[in-house]
Amino acid sequence: MSTVIKTASEPAFQLDSAFDYGDEFGPEKIVYIYEPRCGLRGIVVIDNSSIGPAIGGIRMTPTVNTREVFRLARAMTWKNALAGIPHGGGKSGIIADPRTLTLERKETLIRQFARGIEALNQYIPGPDMGTDETAMAWVRDEIRRSVGLSSVLGGIPLDQVGATGFGLAVCAEVAQHFADINLKGATVSIQGFGNVGRHAASYLTHPKRGAVVVAATDLAGTVYNPDGIYVEKLVNLVKAGQPITDYRENGTQILPREEFVNIPVDIFVPAAQPDVITEANAPLLNCKLMLQGANIPCTEAAERILHERGIICVPDFVANAGGVICGSVEYHGGTKSTAFQEIEEKLKENTLAVLDRAKRTKLTPRAAALELAKERVKEAMSYRRAN
Ligand code: NAD
Repeated sequence: MSTVIKTASEPAFQLDSAFDYGDEFGPEKIVYIYEPRCGLRGIVVIDNSSIGPAIGGIRMTPTVNTREVFRLARAMTWKNALAGIPHGGGKSGIIADPRTLTLERKETLIRQFARGIEALNQYIPGPDMGTDETAMAWVRDEIRRSVGLSSVLGGIPLDQVGATGFGLAVCAEVAQHFADINLKGATVSIQGFGNVGRHAASYLTHPKRGAVVVAATDLAGTVYNPDGIYVEKLVNLVKAGQPITDYRENGTQILPREEFVNIPVDIFVPAAQPDVITEANAPLLNCKLMLQGANIPCTEAAERILHERGIICVPDFVANAGGVICGSVEYHGGTKSTAFQEIEEKLKENTLAVLDRAKRTKLTPRAAALELAKERVKEAMSYRRAN
């Protein structure tokens, strides 16, 4: 049996005294899961469950700590509230290096962790860095509660179906009017051509929307063709395990990775890493609309610079919510087509609400989105029993 304890001498369990964890929104619970016999050290933060049981991933890295898990849980509170799903925000971490674990040992840690959180029924785990569909199947086998499952277990494999990329394309349909561009014929540059980026490319260039991808970047470099890239060819290349720089078509230039910033486009979709747009390159970025596929792709200072330059940035927790909406639909027993309907409906409503508020108040879209999420969580909190 796992031992659930409130404090431990483990440094990663220590609360950081310089960091204020508590405010009116949460966290509701910080729980440490410690099982010395198998070496399990886990952290769970349920930030706010007023809207419903918290959904958030299990992160497995050697460096995950209480502060990181709390910040990720808080981000989920805002994301889930804004997405309009009946779930609050939470997150968890297991301190271990998945790259050096045998599969057997990873399974032991995940199963033990699952048993440790069995009684925490206000927390529904999903995949995050270091955990995947298989890990979620082990969790479900132990406690009947997880999202991000494979289709044989009734899951909707969101990276295969491209739920997040689809959401970004829906977001573009609404945001075009605020950025004064026409999606039909709009030029697009995509940084990161993985699960999010390549599906965003396919859905944005679907004849219903008609955008033209002129640039794509991955770790190997940037592919640029002002007349447009054949997205399907590029997707097939990536699926075959080749870098996008192997793409060969007349008129295509292969440029260094960092060159994405100098390419003039209507829409830029960062879908790779955090903090790729900084104070240093924000003044150079040549676009009218940024749809944030990756989490925190811009530093705060960079986002302010872009706002002052009149570039509309639809923030990550609005634009990339397709994945979490898909997870919620899966949890409630829905199908892929229900998930896509919900993503379309919710992302349209929320993008409009956020950009409309930002326009009226002159706030950045991120600040407007945060205001809206806080209002929703506060209202849900007002319905809870006072004691
Ligand atoms: P992925 O690993 O499938 O793809 C990442 C892509 O980024 C790859 O093409 C890789 O070559 C490229 N890349 C990495 N570093 C780069 C760099 N420095 N410059 C240019 N390209 C670089 O990952 P993913 O699932 O597509 O997720 C991408 C981002 O979106 C992550 O930040 C993730 O947290 C976030 N996100 C993903 C989902 C989802 O549904 N998968 C949902 C919400 C947010």
